[in-house]
Amino acid sequence: MRTIDMIISATLSNRDAVKQIERDARVLRTYEKYPELQRIDNNIKDNIRANLMKILDNELDPEDIQNEEENRLLKAREQFLRTNCISSDFDKLWPVCEKCDDTGFVSKGNIRRVCSCMRDELEEAYKEAGLGDYSSVKPSLLDEKAIKNQENKRKEARSRLDSVIASLIDKKEQSALIYCDKAQTGKTFLSICFTKVVIQCGFSGCYVKMDDLMNASDERVSDYKYCDFLVIDDFSSVLTNNFKIRFALDRILETRLNNGKFMLIIMNESPSEAVNKSDEKIAAKLSRLECL
Ligand SMILES: [Zn+2]
Repeated sequence: MRTIDMIISATLSNRDAVKQIERDARVLRTYEKYPELQRIDNNIKDNIRANLMKILDNELDPEDIQNEEENRLLKAREQFLRTNCISSDFDKLWPVCEKCDDTGFVSKGNIRRVCSCMRDELEEAYKEAGLGDYSSVKPSLLDEKAIKNQENKRKEARSRLDSVIASLIDKKEQSALIYCDKAQTGKTFLSICFTKVVIQCGFSGCYVKMDDLMNASDERVSDYKYCDFLVIDDFSSVLTNNFKIRFALDRILETRLNNGKFMLIIMNESPSEAVNKSDEKIAAKLSRLECL
């Protein structure tokens, strides 16, 4: 799985190449318009080169460099730029996004969030996390829906997930949770919103429905074992009778429980029912999870 960091760094390296091409074109245009400036810049470079050669030939001690000529040229350059209203950073790389200075993230305190210039990259990361079918689910709708749906269980789940995010940011160990409630109470919506928030904060998150574990590749199971935040939706004790699902789920639970990694298991059946009816190995691990 490509995480948001990986996707952003690929974009940034392309962006660097574009910035260099733009800078080179800008310098060329400026020199064409102001040949005098090019002459001054060439003289500065020649002066540096000459001093360097003298140092290499042991004709000059680096300590004894007389920078008078260089200072004179730099002053002349500064004067020329000012007189002709040329930006002093015309020959520097200009950031594409001033908001994040081309880092892809904006930080406030210890909270790091993906910059708005990386919207496409964020969508890409959501797809990698298994959220491709949920592009219309927006974390910004959380508050709106919370007002409409005043059910206590969901409010409790929301505040619990808020504190999970806070402790992820503080790099604390997490406990795994079971979130059980009746069908159609917005459990999936809430968990998808939070998976998106986790990714927006630069962490890796995955969302998977339990029956999709049947066809999950080893690589995908490894993502589920090690990502920062995992949601397993539609848990059903009946499905633990399926060998492939049981095998994958057992490895995921084992790794995450042993490493203090957060996981949310969503189910309609009650946790005690889930423990009683599940395969023995899975039941033993489920009983180590906290219930919301
Ligand atoms: Zn930006």
